[in-house]
Amino acid sequence: MLAHGNSVCTTCRRENLKLFLKGDRCFTEKCSFERRSYPPGQHGQGRTKFSEYALQLREKQKVRRLYGLLEGQFESIAQKASKQQGVTGEVLLSSLESRMDSVIYQMGYAESRNQARQLIRHKHFTLNGKRMDSPSHQVKEGDLVEVKEKSRELKPILAAIEAVKRREIPAWLEVDPKSFKGTIKRSPKREDITVPIQENLIVEYYSR
Ligand code: SF4
Repeated sequence: MLAHGNSVCTTCRRENLKLFLKGDRCFTEKCSFERRSYPPGQHGQGRTKFSEYALQLREKQKVRRLYGLLEGQFESIAQKASKQQGVTGEVLLSSLESRMDSVIYQMGYAESRNQARQLIRHKHFTLNGKRMDSPSHQVKEGDLVEVKEKSRELKPILAAIEAVKRREIPAWLEVDPKSFKGTIKRSPKREDITVPIQENLIVEYYSR
């Protein structure tokens, strides 16, 4: 029997989805989701049937964990999305992707969103030439992200730049790792998000 991975990997197996929470390891054969893809506690005998509510709850939890947010933070983003123009689920996903921490991860300057949050809080980045230490800040079209000059030798950032070669940079971002820069070409659209998400279930969860 294969050994249980650590608790972070258990989250992926529970959600039955690769959530990319462990950086470079997620892109290698060491990923424990690749090795055993049935949820922890269930030994491959098939899945339990879920009620409508349970499905909505699970989808919400899955996406909340994917972006590494606390319950209150996630709910607040969902509530804001419901008040904006457009399809609520798509607005929600776009808001999540547009967070500064998600952008730093997607640009390849951090190996996970969690690491991106720490690096941002430690003031290693600028946005349009100004210090940016808020992981929740919403970027917009035309914004320029840079790794601060004094942070360009930082091991986690250099390791992330190396590791990102194993994954694709989303089309809405443009990155020049040689100059430690990245630009927001446009807002993220629904089709830019490749992780399987049923955002309608999350919207239903919050409209109960
Ligand atoms: Fe662990 Fe990453 Fe694989 Fe998830 S995707 S199981 S966090 S290695």
